[in-house]
Amino acid sequence: MNEPIVNVGILTSQQIKLNILGLYTSPNFPGEFSGEVLVTYENNLITFQSEDYKYSTRKPIELEPDEFYNDTFLVRDVHIGKEFHWERSKDLRFLGSIKLIIQEDQVTLINIVPIETYLLSVVSSEMNANASEEFLKCSAVISRSWLLAQMRSKNELEDQPNLSNNRENEIIRWYNREDHKDFDVCADDHCQRYQGFRNIKINVAAEAVKFTRGLVLMHDLDICDARFSKCCGGITESYENVWDDKHVPYLKGIVDYKFSDEGFDINLESESATTAWIENNPPAFCDIVDEDILEKIMVDFDLKTKNFFRWEVNYSNEEIATLLFEKTGIEFGKIVDLIPIKRGKSGRLVKLKIVGSKETVTFGKELEIRKILSKTHLLSSAFIIIKGETTDGIPKEFTLKGGGWGHGVGLCQIGAAVMGERGYQFDEILLHYYSDAAIVKYY
Ligand SMILES: [Zn+2]
Ligand SMILES: [Zn+2]
Repeated sequence: MNEPIVNVGILTSQQIKLNILGLYTSPNFPGEFSGEVLVTYENNLITFQSEDYKYSTRKPIELEPDEFYNDTFLVRDVHIGKEFHWERSKDLRFLGSIKLIIQEDQVTLINIVPIETYLLSVVSSEMNANASEEFLKCSAVISRSWLLAQMRSKNELEDQPNLSNNRENEIIRWYNREDHKDFDVCADDHCQRYQGFRNIKINVAAEAVKFTRGLVLMHDLDICDARFSKCCGGITESYENVWDDKHVPYLKGIVDYKFSDEGFDINLESESATTAWIENNPPAFCDIVDEDILEKIMVDFDLKTKNFFRWEVNYSNEEIATLLFEKTGIEFGKIVDLIPIKRGKSGRLVKLKIVGSKETVTFGKELEIRKILSKTHLLSSAFIIIKGETTDGIPKEFTLKGGGWGHGVGLCQIGAAVMGERGYQFDEILLHYYSDAAIVKYY
């Protein structure tokens, strides 16, 4: 099999400014293009304008580099980190071909590029390229598997439900990533962060991508949907507790450690076991406070969140009632209790019952619980609830003591990075987290 090609949506706008370094030509019209190019959308037409040429068309426009590695294009004002605190605009430089299409009364720029070239940028954009080489190799295999699994399952996943048949007073939701129609993946955090080829520390990342060329995670004959999250909290979560009720053999809960669990009861579906697990620090690869290691692992804008292995949030009764009203539109009255109904393998709450003086509703799954109990997102739904002093059955405050960051399914990024620092090889790391998978050379 040859190396596949990926179509990446870079940006959609009324107007796109490009700067071509080297030479690009188009199979759609004559001319050679370099320097500043302005692309605009108006009246159902794309207008393409360089110093010497101007074309308008309704059809897609393609542009190809004269020489793949020598000719590049800069896209001005690409919006990155959409809906995250690091949201901003940046000028980004890319390799490969360009396709311009009309999409919802705007023009979309798509970068067409071989997968291994795309991965080179992703592996450096997603994580800090100072991380260990073994960890970067893991990232390369995961990104490649994820992308190929997406491209294969595209169009198969449409109309997937994300809301279960709810019983009365029960709101159980999960969130599937929406696929893109006109390209395979976007360049932002929604898919994989792909920020071009300008500031990347090309050597380490390039080595990791080159070393793992064509390697993917497979289970039976399927490429694995290689999910990952920031920090599992000690045990990873199984797929069905976060998304739809489907058993995915390579995405099941595993203890994030190689040695004995030091006598902890790891049946975290039980309340007493979860309490002991959260209150004490069980040994885990992702229990890390060493700033030197953290700085090596994470890209700078993620460094603000430091206490993620174990964390705590405190709300007064009024605060939590106001928050719940803002988030759900439900008037609970005074909050009487928060009752865990169902936990997953990692202790993450799958269902939480909120008992108010006026209304009682059960919420799930994990992301929904994280959304309604925080102005932004709680770090995870693996938390225990400690009630404050109670007057007439109403607790004064609630303390949520939790562990981990993110949904916890698949590879634990912090844990994997620490394993890399400690000398584990990339295949050992991958098969630790995706225990039922195999590493296969796909092309
Ligand atoms: Zn996307
Ligand atoms: Zn972990």
